[in-house]
Amino acid sequence: MEGYYGRFGGAFVPQPLKDEMDKIAAAYEQLKQNPDYIKELNHIRATYQGRPTPVTYACNLSEKIGGAKIYLKREDLNHTGAHKLNHCMAECMIAKHLGKKKVIAETGAGQHGVALATAAAYLKLECDIYMGEVDIEKETPNVSRMRLLGANVIPVSAGQKTLKEAVDAAFEVYLQDPENTMYCIGSVVGPHPFPTMLRDFQSVIGTEAREQMLAQTGRLPHHAVACVGGGSNSIGLFSAFLDDNVQLYGVEPMGKGTKLGQNAATLTYGSEGVMHGFNSIMLKDENGEPAPVYSVASGLDYAGVGPEHAYLHETGRVNYVSVLDDECINAFFTLSRTDGIIPALESAHAVAYAMKLAREVDPADTILVNLSGRGDKDMDFVIREYGYLA
Ligand SMILES: *Cc1c(COP(=O)(O)O)cnc(C)c1O
Repeated sequence: MEGYYGRFGGAFVPQPLKDEMDKIAAAYEQLKQNPDYIKELNHIRATYQGRPTPVTYACNLSEKIGGAKIYLKREDLNHTGAHKLNHCMAECMIAKHLGKKKVIAETGAGQHGVALATAAAYLKLECDIYMGEVDIEKETPNVSRMRLLGANVIPVSAGQKTLKEAVDAAFEVYLQDPENTMYCIGSVVGPHPFPTMLRDFQSVIGTEAREQMLAQTGRLPHHAVACVGGGSNSIGLFSAFLDDNVQLYGVEPMGKGTKLGQNAATLTYGSEGVMHGFNSIMLKDENGEPAPVYSVASGLDYAGVGPEHAYLHETGRVNYVSVLDDECINAFFTLSRTDGIIPALESAHAVAYAMKLAREVDPADTILVNLSGRGDKDMDFVIREYGYLA
């Protein structure tokens, strides 16, 4: 069925919102076959975002480990420093096509807000970003970035004043005026068509990396690794290899440990349920509501996961594994020092798992890691908490 991956996915939203989702789905079906749209998207990617991003052989890290060879897909070099602009730009193009004046979204740590504000500025759309007051206090540089880019950052003071309340506030406003606005979701989650659309927008990562690995090594990678928050950067990478003999690993954050609330390892510990408009696997509290989650990487602390990942987990095509905060921090320092690349804490989860894998598999193997973003945003926090050691 449309919008389903096995029994996961769908669009569990009130009827007015369902009508709006259907309009977006129809527009997307049309646009993805429209040569002018494809041409414009490719032009923006090449001349504005800086795509294709390179694949780098992490020679010093590989040598230090002394096992399989580790390659990095450099989404940290995409404009704004992460993969998120890939889908924000395409979402804003759809908004324009639908005649919308404004895009809206919520943001937690501010990464999605910054990417959306960037795309909105470039495509001349108004941009309203809802953000909890507690997050606004914590994430000053991203708040400044969004405001510099011309977005309105709207403080949300309800409840715990964080991401959950920001989602509710943004949805409420969207329901009031779906005619003129488009809600831009920040990962492969939410009601259909968002998980499918965002997967397609992020598939550029896998398509490019596949060609680049063939060119650089003469064959496909033996293993491909990416971190999983909602699941957009990982599905973007995996989508190019699903039909190949490539081992795929989605890395979830194990945070401080295995107890509920200490991690955000959704596929490791979660169960089936509907949240945020779609059916998938989620971490639940005792009332069946989305549980509080935690990771040192704020981009990974989501209680759910995209429906396609729930499906790939169930079929066993992708191995879902996990990495602790401490292992992530270790990888953050290691890659910075060995190869001169400071990874985002989210991406450092993938690097940490690749470092383990490199020791276990055949040393002749190659491991492709999606380096989803750069770590400048995390630098001050890491140095404050951990100093320069590790
Ligand atoms: C947001 C973010 C993630 C997590 O989101 P996914 O949808 O799982 O990709 C990972 N890495 C970086 C750098 C991010 O900003």
